[in-house]
Amino acid sequence: MLQIALLWVLFAIITATVADRKGRVVRPWVLYALILGPIAFIHILVAAPDQRAVEAAALRVGDLRKCPACAELVKVEAVVCRFCRTSLPEYVTPARAADVAPIKSDDRAVGMQVLGVIAACIVVLLLLATRSTSASRSSDSYEVRVCIGRGVAYFKEIDSYPLLSDGRSADAVAGERCRRATSAF
Ligand SMILES: [Zn+2]
Repeated sequence: MLQIALLWVLFAIITATVADRKGRVVRPWVLYALILGPIAFIHILVAAPDQRAVEAAALRVGDLRKCPACAELVKVEAVVCRFCRTSLPEYVTPARAADVAPIKSDDRAVGMQVLGVIAACIVVLLLLATRSTSASRSSDSYEVRVCIGRGVAYFKEIDSYPLLSDGRSADAVAGERCRRATSAF
């Protein structure tokens, strides 16, 4: 159950990251992913990027500029507009972009780092949860655990511990039988 919940959150984080990359508004996608998990994830993978938002972000960061003749977005290094073939003036970093862009991209970088740390924590928790269930089965009831104890004692008595004659683990077999019926031993 815990694993499923963690996987769900992990899906939501990945969905949010992809949505952000595609220039989509992140919050609705997080909500969508928290409700429908993998479905939202697949949806954002196939969804087309919001071209205007991606372009606006590129303008903000300073990768693109607007052609003064046709108003299409072209690369800042371009000397000729690829849309209207107009010669472009040499690009000078506008003071405003220089002030705003680094803060913006820093914000984004910090956000990505936070997402990365959360994702890493979830992966670690998932691994821990998986290990603890396979090792001790803490979800077993008291009766089941007592039964397993009797089973292990029985296998030791007949010299079939830790491995049974067929090579299976005595612990595993005792657990399996006791979970089926606590009267197994
Ligand atoms: Zn142009």
